[in-house]
Amino acid sequence: VRNMVRKLSENNWEIPIGHIPNMRVPGRLFVSENLLDGIEPGTIDQIANVATLPGIQKYSMAMPDAHLGYGFAIGGVAAFDMEEGIISPGGVGFDINCGVRLIRTKLQKEEVIPNIKTLTDELFKNIPAGVGSKSRFRASDKELDCAFLEGAKWAVEAGYGVEADTEYCEANGYMEGADPSHVSTKARNRGKPQLGTLGSGNHFLEVQYVDKIYDQEMASTFGLEEGQVTVMIHCGSRGAGHQICTDYLKELSKAVKDHKIEIPDKQLACAPAQSREAQNYFKAMLCAANYAWANRQMITHWTRESFENVFGRDAEDLGMNLLYDVAHNVAKLEEHTVDGKKKEVYVHRKGATRAFPPGHPEVPAVYRDVGQPVLIPGSMGTPSFILCGSKEAMDISFGSACHGAGRVMSRAQAKKEFRGQNVKDNLEAQGITIRAAHPSVIAEEAPGVYKSSSEVVNVVHELGIARKVARVLPLGVTKG
Ligand code: 5GP
Ligand code: MN
Ligand code: MN
Repeated sequence: VRNMVRKLSENNWEIPIGHIPNMRVPGRLFVSENLLDGIEPGTIDQIANVATLPGIQKYSMAMPDAHLGYGFAIGGVAAFDMEEGIISPGGVGFDINCGVRLIRTKLQKEEVIPNIKTLTDELFKNIPAGVGSKSRFRASDKELDCAFLEGAKWAVEAGYGVEADTEYCEANGYMEGADPSHVSTKARNRGKPQLGTLGSGNHFLEVQYVDKIYDQEMASTFGLEEGQVTVMIHCGSRGAGHQICTDYLKELSKAVKDHKIEIPDKQLACAPAQSREAQNYFKAMLCAANYAWANRQMITHWTRESFENVFGRDAEDLGMNLLYDVAHNVAKLEEHTVDGKKKEVYVHRKGATRAFPPGHPEVPAVYRDVGQPVLIPGSMGTPSFILCGSKEAMDISFGSACHGAGRVMSRAQAKKEFRGQNVKDNLEAQGITIRAAHPSVIAEEAPGVYKSSSEVVNVVHELGIARKVARVLPLGVTKG
């Protein structure tokens, strides 16, 4: 890959126009020297492919956790002019609004460690996980529509959580403009029994503790201190989002021909942003995004109940409030400055987290002086991080940062490399309790299948697009 890129500055590499034909803008890859060696040539090509799409602004980007994805690389960020540009399902991904939320507690790690096995069991029992797992909640058609339209806000009104929760979600837990009439019956049928489930594999619910503070002032604004126990939830829109993506990939493969858009890879199916096809996808995508927020909200409620059962105190008393909830697979219409002018663009973040700066109106009032919390999971055996968005993110990356450590090997390769039981034993020897629906998941998700979260996070920190606030370590993890 070294001869495919040109170093602009530390952690900042260009994929020049001409890497492939018809690039409208250059590519940018944000990685360290060391991480660059782990990037596959195919990922560079994917960044370049996106640079050929109509209306792309500034450059096609990838974060340090980048790896191969469907059409667009995972870790990719691309913004398109709202008139001249396009919208593409591949730029969002199959798990629409996959995202992360972090719940604080007032508990210290010493209070939780003696109970971690019971607590992890209780969480595993109360929050359905695994491929095709079914929820404890049976959504009616009406309730599904409510989830599609009002996301976390509906879930709170239905009794899953407290009013303050939505204030601490990106977009307040739901986006306007969703239209269930553009969602297929198949997507509805997949979504109904899964509302309130974690899903499989990479999705997790993790009890953690803060082991390091990098910025005291930001940490206290976020309500974090050393030794404190937190809970991280990672999941998305389940079968509903997957089916919506699948349905619209078909639609947009037709649209791309009808609108005579030339694409270098058929996985980049897209349509002009204002076309009927693109807008129908967008309205359906918003349904899935809202569904995902409702899903994380319901899981939050059962997480609180699980803690209540184990510690015999109510969740409020345990200080279990939401620090923040961020999406990392979504397209949004946002205002950004391009060539000195403010304009609305469709920002596609696919395995990338929004990282808005201090003072931005979309940052909750209590955090507004420091910036938006950015939640970066590591793995079930390595640190996860809480960062804070910055002004530099607006200048460099359309207000975005990385979303995780990023995989270094496929699931198939992981199963050859690791044995679930060994990985589990190793983690338990380090004091980390694991509960998974199937042992193969533990192999597929072994810490060794991911890049170093510390290395990845250091890149965004050094670039200044998000600043390190705190580091958390796993104590108990439930996996699909
Ligand atoms: P994705 O959304 O692309 O599947 O992954 C998000 C990130 O979550 C991965 O890149 C990985 O770094 C992280 N991750 C996966 N499994 C776990 C886990 O069990 N615990 C934590 N803390 N992070 C994980
Ligand atoms: Mn996901
Ligand atoms: Mn995810």
